[in-house]
Amino acid sequence: MVQQADQFKKVISHAKEYGFVFPSSEIYDGLSAVYDYGQNGVALKKNIRDYWWKAMVQLNENIVGIDAAIFMHPTTWKASGHVDAFNDPLIDNKVSKKRYRADVLVEDHVAKIEAKIEKEVVKAAKRFGVDFDEAQFKSTNPRVIAYQEKANTILKRLGKSLEKEDLADVKLLIEELEISCPESGSREWTDVKQFNLMFGTKLGASADTAMDLYLRPETAQGIFVNFLNVQKTGRMKLPFGIAQTGKAFRNEIVARQFIFRMREFEQMEMQFFIPPGTQKQWYEHWKKTRLKWHLSLGMGEENYRFHDHEKLAHYADAACDIEFKFPFGFKELEGIHSRTDFDLGSHQTFSGKKLQYFDPERNENYTPYVLETSIGLDRMFLAVLSHALEEETLEEGATRTVLKLPAALAPTKVAVLPLVKKDGLPELARSIVDDLKWKMATAYDEKDAVGRRYRRQDALGTPYCITVDHQSLEDKTVTLRDRDSMTQERISLSDLQNTITDKVAIETLLKKL
Ligand code: ATP
Repeated sequence: MVQQADQFKKVISHAKEYGFVFPSSEIYDGLSAVYDYGQNGVALKKNIRDYWWKAMVQLNENIVGIDAAIFMHPTTWKASGHVDAFNDPLIDNKVSKKRYRADVLVEDHVAKIEAKIEKEVVKAAKRFGVDFDEAQFKSTNPRVIAYQEKANTILKRLGKSLEKEDLADVKLLIEELEISCPESGSREWTDVKQFNLMFGTKLGASADTAMDLYLRPETAQGIFVNFLNVQKTGRMKLPFGIAQTGKAFRNEIVARQFIFRMREFEQMEMQFFIPPGTQKQWYEHWKKTRLKWHLSLGMGEENYRFHDHEKLAHYADAACDIEFKFPFGFKELEGIHSRTDFDLGSHQTFSGKKLQYFDPERNENYTPYVLETSIGLDRMFLAVLSHALEEETLEEGATRTVLKLPAALAPTKVAVLPLVKKDGLPELARSIVDDLKWKMATAYDEKDAVGRRYRRQDALGTPYCITVDHQSLEDKTVTLRDRDSMTQERISLSDLQNTITDKVAIETLLKKL
């Protein structure tokens, strides 16, 4: 755990030091759980967004995109259920006066039990060596089974109590598990209360005519209210999807863990409209498709798992999360929800407008069902960044910090470095940048010794460095250095573009899908 906490601290400080993520309005001491993306962060974030968008919209002829406004008519949030049901159960510690999400306190407790299981697995793996079968060990070792049963029982009870809105039992559970405040160590808790997460604001200048609005807490509703617009103007036939990326706002109670839980964040959502009765099949389809998207980035199959929801939201008939192993443990990265006809049906009721589809095959009108995939762009950014950051010990005992980002997501694809700042090397290096910049993000760096420049690019995640030396002037060759292996090969200038372009293009990732 200490190691993991250390790793997380390193990720946060690396993100700041290298221009990926800054605390918001830092000169005024920041704003809690709000962050700004810096010059490198914005590029990484854009590349992740592009990869998602292309995988959804470009590769699927039956998925189109929209960009709906953040402000929506206030009735939207009554219809969606957010006014009544977008609550988190909160609890205060009487000694520290700190506020927590009651469900998160319990889940953190369960994570500690799961960490014990992991410890047993690591110990056993060492003992059994190559013959170790993790699945068999987990299903037969009495200690692991007992831990697992304990964890399952707790989560089941939490799920049931939340579903029944039995907040007294959630408090009882916290007491029974002897959960103490992480800050004060005290076990004196207030009752659990519901807290609505939407940010309110006003539209209009004068006090009496101003309209109460909410900043959208999810992008999905912008898609639902435009369902007919898109279906009609795009002459879309079911099944079809609408994708959207954009900001969402939630007044989170527990705003910690850096960009994992923010008050202003970005979502990438896709609502897939389907005939009623086909939701099971599409649920499985999108679970598989989305996991494949994640795995294509090469961040290790063992770092993902599905988590089925015990407590289903009011709109869902099946739901799960894709969890990723963040430096602080497995946590939700993406949600996949079978939303039935709840959303369109409810907007139909509240608006009085018919939101139906005529199915020529079935020869009937109906309200489509919806399968949703919803991923937080900032969480995805954190997953990519934290997985990529490594401290490597090199042969001579020296260390280097390297961001092993998937090349297609890296903010800068190639840095061109003249070995020295004279003899015409900078001019040749600049001409290489001028050649490459049409195709990819490039950097030019002539400051400091070349070894230091390599380290700088390693820390930024730049997959390739091109070094221009005196030989380059004579035979039109340069060295191409690979970030991960640190190997260098001599390559002719005329081959440069072809060699790099494919490796750094998002297309390369898309072809894995
Ligand atoms: P959690 O249980 O962690 O609060 P959620 O189940 O409320 O998340 P959803 O409403 O399903 O999340 O939102 C879809 C996705 O949006 C999540 O999987 C997550 O990646 C992202 N997300 C949600 N809340 C935040 C937040 N406060 N900051 C950053 N990303 C978020």
